[in-house]
Amino acid sequence: MVIYLKEGDSLTADFTNSDAIENLAYNCRIGNHILLGDRNLLEEIASTFIISDRARSFLRQSAQRMTQQGSLINKVSWLLTIDTSNLVPGMVHLTTFSNANYCEKSQLLTENLSDSMVLTSLAEHFASVEFKGYKVVIRQVAGGGSTTGQCLHGLTSSPSGAVLCIVDSDRTFDGAAIGDTAKGTRKKYKASKDKWRSSFHIIEQRELENLIPDDILLHCVNKFIPAKSPEANALLQTSTFFKDYFCVKSGDSTCRVVNSMIGKKRLSKLKEARGHVDSPLVKAESCGTCALDNNCRTSPGFGAGFLSLVAQELSEGNIALDCSSWRAELLKLVERVASFGLGASPIRV
Ligand SMILES: [Zn+2]
Repeated sequence: MVIYLKEGDSLTADFTNSDAIENLAYNCRIGNHILLGDRNLLEEIASTFIISDRARSFLRQSAQRMTQQGSLINKVSWLLTIDTSNLVPGMVHLTTFSNANYCEKSQLLTENLSDSMVLTSLAEHFASVEFKGYKVVIRQVAGGGSTTGQCLHGLTSSPSGAVLCIVDSDRTFDGAAIGDTAKGTRKKYKASKDKWRSSFHIIEQRELENLIPDDILLHCVNKFIPAKSPEANALLQTSTFFKDYFCVKSGDSTCRVVNSMIGKKRLSKLKEARGHVDSPLVKAESCGTCALDNNCRTSPGFGAGFLSLVAQELSEGNIALDCSSWRAELLKLVERVASFGLGASPIRV
């Protein structure tokens, strides 16, 4: 991530501050993060702090590079700003980083490893387009489904690198309540301290599967389950009102979505559903209860392991990616992963 050293009223070249600078400089030099700061401040630290020659040289190089790198500050959606005076309340102080664990690689915590792998691959592509010359350096952490909240608690209650946690909402229709995993993880996030090093996102759609770009989804279906290609094409032409909440793993139906709305007494949503029900999806026998003028449709299931197939194809570079075609909801998520994990190639000093 981008680390910005902010000048304050006082700067002390004591041992604790020097240790902190040594740790930050090391992690930025090996490419885990990107160090930015006012040129004069970086020069002053380089000449007065009790640090290694390598750290000193790195800080001077960073000061020189501010002309090219400075614009990153306004470009990234996540930035770590450090108060070098150790005086400003509500800001993270430089002394914190005398504990080297806080300088470690950024971490991406998701329910399963496939989620992290997919998001990281997409973020790598996004960074190659939007953050040219930089790369995504992020440690993937699998929360193990319902234990993701516990895992987030563990990571945020002991010194470690910054944590970006992304979970599925598991919403069963547009406007439905979020599921237990999202609820439990959100609770742990709210209770966590050190918010300067954690960020939490719930995918509005049912699951990450529902956000897979059309071309990637079709590539994987065509390659691994070609018999479902016609259904996959029909799914992609279905309104997001349904498509975003269909279970992509086991398959689903408009009837299930509509019955969920009835079950939750969401009558306004039910009215809205009528406007979205026309679809090239396979017509099912009328269920008699879904109140959609007997226009019942079933959607395909691609299996519980579908996301791991997507992850595999992406990490092997088997799909040509084009982030200009991705929907806004996905771009926002991917941009956050790229910002959080933004790093550089190791720098020689
Ligand atoms: Zn029905």
